[in-house]
Amino acid sequence: MKTILIIGGGHAGAQAAASLRADGFDGRLALISSETEIPYHRPPLSKAFVKTPDEDLQELRPALFYEKNGIDLELGRTVVAIERDAGRVKLDDGHLDFDALVLATGARVRVPPVPGIELGNVFMLRTAKDARRLRERFALARDVVVVGGGFIGLELAATARLLGKTVTVIEAAPRLMGRVVAPQISSFFLDMHRGLGTTVRLETPVAAIIGEDGVAVAVETLAGERIAADTVIVGVGVVPNIELAAEAGLSVGNGVIVDEAMRTSDPRIVAAGDAVSFHHWALGRAVRLESVQNAVDQAKTASATLMGKAEPYNAVPWFWSDQGDYKLQMVGLSNDADRSVTRGRPENGSFSVFHYRGEALVAIDSVNRASDHMLGRRLLAMGISPDPATVSDEAFELKSLIA
Ligand code: FAD
Repeated sequence: MKTILIIGGGHAGAQAAASLRADGFDGRLALISSETEIPYHRPPLSKAFVKTPDEDLQELRPALFYEKNGIDLELGRTVVAIERDAGRVKLDDGHLDFDALVLATGARVRVPPVPGIELGNVFMLRTAKDARRLRERFALARDVVVVGGGFIGLELAATARLLGKTVTVIEAAPRLMGRVVAPQISSFFLDMHRGLGTTVRLETPVAAIIGEDGVAVAVETLAGERIAADTVIVGVGVVPNIELAAEAGLSVGNGVIVDEAMRTSDPRIVAAGDAVSFHHWALGRAVRLESVQNAVDQAKTASATLMGKAEPYNAVPWFWSDQGDYKLQMVGLSNDADRSVTRGRPENGSFSVFHYRGEALVAIDSVNRASDHMLGRRLLAMGISPDPATVSDEAFELKSLIA
């Protein structure tokens, strides 16, 4: 194999490049990214970066790393087609040949079909460019309305409050972060944000963003109420970038479909990260995960596969979100859980919710309780399911389960 191309310079693409070299690939290796920055950590964009005027992007690896490892960075270039028969990709400004390909195209913000979404001071956040724009706006903003009570919306809401803005969060669902966390966690964060002085409106779908002279001045709810805003942040999820794969005739669903070793329907092409849909061994169905851990671990698997050392991907998923003074950490997938038990006390600001399906522990959501989270990663990896009664008894040392 002479040339491997990686499409996408996010967490998955950068990890694939590093892993391919570490796994012994010594041919030409190029990473193509539409973004102009060296691959950087995306999570800080909604955390430290946006709140601190002189905060720099945190590079995943320094420029020297790519240089030393012979990884060509093709930044600011976009792949517009994968010509599988010819073994090359078409870029907006030329062609590059490949023997194997890593698809790490990630996801983009979902733009809801709301009138006024195109107005000038409406913000969505995915890239460094978006974050710089929002950070500049935060210097001027006074009345911020956040549409969407998910992780990114809530992180930005907490930051905006910290910066002294008037903040309203409007969420269509009956609870915050409802797709992914336990109701106890949603209600803890609802109280927390309200405690910071944020107005949080649940079951309040947005109908329109109202503009005057091309500038947003209010958000109108479906019930017809207008909430004044000089800055509107919309955070209603992402859509996977699957168009390239689909147009090249690869199998796609809610993501580029891969097998357990991250191979797409063309064995020369592997895929990893937010763009990927894979069959989850524990849930028994296809999932697409949006997290740094998943992007990094899938990229490692994808690299091993291309190097002829395929192994099934079965990493325990984990994720985190920082909101105000609280760190929320999740491990496992709670979607199919049928009961839960709480360890610690929400009123003390430090607790975990352990999720079970039948007798099996499937996930843990922790608030300011890193030790439960770290232990949970080990319990889930080892397939250990502590008795729920034991879990709720704080006197019992959970660590002893893996001693
Ligand atoms: P991406 O990071 O989306 O990278 C894909 C790259 O591919 C992009 O650079 C894109 O420009 C490029 N690309 C796409 N198509 C093409 C093309 N045709 N040609 C060339 N280049 C292309 N996760 C956590 O685990 N914890 C967090 O706290 C957390 N916070 C987050 C905060 C924010 C603001 C955001 C936006 C995300 C956050 N995430 C967090 C999610 C995490 O960042 C993603 O799961 C992760 O970035 C996925 O990596 P990826 O490489 O699959 O995709």
